[in-house]
Amino acid sequence: MRESRGKRIVLALLVLALLSSYLYLEIAGAQSLPLPEKVTAPVQSEASAAAPGQVPAAQEGLSPAAPEQSAASAPQPEQGAAAEGQSAQEGASGLITSLPALATPEPVPTVDPNTPYGKALAKAAELGLPTPPEIDVSSWEFTLVNGDHSIDRYEPEQLAYLHQTLAETDIQTAYNGNRCPVDIRIAEPLIAMGQGCKEAGYTVYLSSGYRSYNDQAANFQRVCQNNGISDGKDYAGHYITMPPGCSEHQLALCCDITDRYYETKTPEKVASPTIDWLLEHCAEYGFVQRFPSGKEDITGVMNETWHFRYVGVEAAAYMTENELTLEEFLSLYGVE
Ligand SMILES: [Zn+2]
Repeated sequence: MRESRGKRIVLALLVLALLSSYLYLEIAGAQSLPLPEKVTAPVQSEASAAAPGQVPAAQEGLSPAAPEQSAASAPQPEQGAAAEGQSAQEGASGLITSLPALATPEPVPTVDPNTPYGKALAKAAELGLPTPPEIDVSSWEFTLVNGDHSIDRYEPEQLAYLHQTLAETDIQTAYNGNRCPVDIRIAEPLIAMGQGCKEAGYTVYLSSGYRSYNDQAANFQRVCQNNGISDGKDYAGHYITMPPGCSEHQLALCCDITDRYYETKTPEKVASPTIDWLLEHCAEYGFVQRFPSGKEDITGVMNETWHFRYVGVEAAAYMTENELTLEEFLSLYGVE
């Protein structure tokens, strides 16, 4: 009896011990299970995002490209994470709350797409160009003159005669009795550019600034006669002289610059350190090489390494960096 009673007690104790250890394991299991899930959840969402585009979407928010994309894809990680369970949702909500913080530095599109600048932003993006400068395309320095855009008998309001200012700088001038007239608004940057070139150690010769409608008409006739042509164009169909009303020289916002006087000019003939320096530095003064090589079909004019046109520093920098002619630059803003 005693023995069997003792056995029963031992058995009962064993059962009790088993029960309690089972219960302990149950409780411990219930407590410990969510823990590793909580820890791994953000890692899981990051890992899964790397493939289907969760984190890339958030990372895109850091770059200036496609702000709408990252915003649009934001609901996707939320849905994907919801399927993974509560702790995964935590990870997803962590991502979502971080999205607005990433998205705030993005430029808010407040520019009217129908304005010239709105058009320029859209067209530049379409062409893979950097953000264009916010300019007033109707401002004087952006006046387009070419074979298709005549200014008829336009006359500049006020001319500056550069020989007066340049007499002391040993910068040679020509045309109009060597007075070299230009629109007064470009006189200062043009003189500064000439002086910069001189200081770099090169001779500077300003040969042709403003030409009146009548001057250009006479010029056109002479060049046509000399070349046995009637339309001012070479065999390739590019202007070697512009008809009156179509020359930038009539606009007076340009100047032909070389190292010395030349009776006639070709890129080979006038090649010099002066031209090299000007090509490298003209944009700093707001000028561009107006008729570059390889763009003849766009400008309609043969390569003229010596012809520099004022467009302002901001536009000149953008045009030079992106190798755009004035025609291409203005077409971004809807000027055709
Ligand atoms: Zn010229």
